[in-house]
Amino acid sequence: MDQLALACPVCGSSDVVDLPVPNPTRSMISDGKLMPRPLQRRSCKACGYGFHATPPDAADLRDIYDASYTIGLRDGQAEHERALAYGSQISGILRDVLGPDFSISSLVEFGSGSGSLLGFLAREWNCDVVTGVEPSARLVEHSRRQAAPGTRIEECFAEAFDPRETAYDLCLSVNVVEHAASPSGYLRACRNAVSRDGIVVVICPDGERATSELLFYDHISSFTVCSMELAAREAGLSLVANAALSGILSGFRAYVLRPGATRGDCPSAARAGLAEARSRFIGDWRRIEAAVLKVFEGRAYAIFGTGEFADLLAAYSPAVIDRARCFVVDAPLDGSRGEKPVVATKAFLFGAPIPLLAAVNERSWPGLKQRFASTGTAIFHPYELAQKRTAS
Ligand SMILES: [Zn+2]
Repeated sequence: MDQLALACPVCGSSDVVDLPVPNPTRSMISDGKLMPRPLQRRSCKACGYGFHATPPDAADLRDIYDASYTIGLRDGQAEHERALAYGSQISGILRDVLGPDFSISSLVEFGSGSGSLLGFLAREWNCDVVTGVEPSARLVEHSRRQAAPGTRIEECFAEAFDPRETAYDLCLSVNVVEHAASPSGYLRACRNAVSRDGIVVVICPDGERATSELLFYDHISSFTVCSMELAAREAGLSLVANAALSGILSGFRAYVLRPGATRGDCPSAARAGLAEARSRFIGDWRRIEAAVLKVFEGRAYAIFGTGEFADLLAAYSPAVIDRARCFVVDAPLDGSRGEKPVVATKAFLFGAPIPLLAAVNERSWPGLKQRFASTGTAIFHPYELAQKRTAS
């Protein structure tokens, strides 16, 4: 086999493993849309970089980012709360790195989306020059309407952004780098936007842990600290700090980078354990459909939740959704989801409740399980069912 084709694109190691394929024909992108392609990922056992066995081609990327890709406009209130959380945690990290009196007078955000974080930070830091760069025409139109006077919103991909005469103090991006076709090409665009003593802040899913971010087809890269450091070095940036985010942003990591050569080597900690954890995680997803159908064989059940986890179930374990009687949520916004009714928890419990399958992430599961324990309604989590089946 061609060793080069198998090698890690970031560190060049050929110690790379294929992860399981969660569904043989389909996968999902971050906004919930289905992709008619299986998800075949690899994990580098040396630096921990996660990547597609066959990177999406130009046509795939056009399919992903067509006009309907409007993540960030789905729920205005949630988007606003996330912007506040990102803003305060970014300020905290910069205080740690630059000292309490740091000042940022010019700010550019790549992938500025709805513009809420850009607006928040521009006010918080009292910036003079504020630029958002966003490829989605719908988001550009939306953010131009909301933006403070003087804010410039450019409609283009980061790699095509021309900073003109401005050398920015700070180039920020949140959940963009993992989508870039070339991580080092993207990071070079960040590098080119800032002054020689400027700062680049990159936030993306924390690839040090195996989480559902692995299941999004449009995540081209899963970064560990080591693989980010190597990709940044390729782009002329050195990693000066990194921190896992907390609270509602747990599962994300922030990297602070500065122009210049990195001194020293990336720690050569082998990431074989991470490759195994990713393999187990995606292997569970591959088993969910069969495991759930076995447990509920001949029995009616409902799905608790209509969010991202329900989207993932619909993509990777479609029969689990097809055979459910209805969805249950605390405060339904819509009466139905697809062809299934959406019922309020209170009304559901007031009737003759059937068992529930929890469509929530690992973080929310213990609390939800506890909540239903006192109601006498059986509730199961797909991960537990998939793991039980393996053990037996
Ligand atoms: Zn590697």
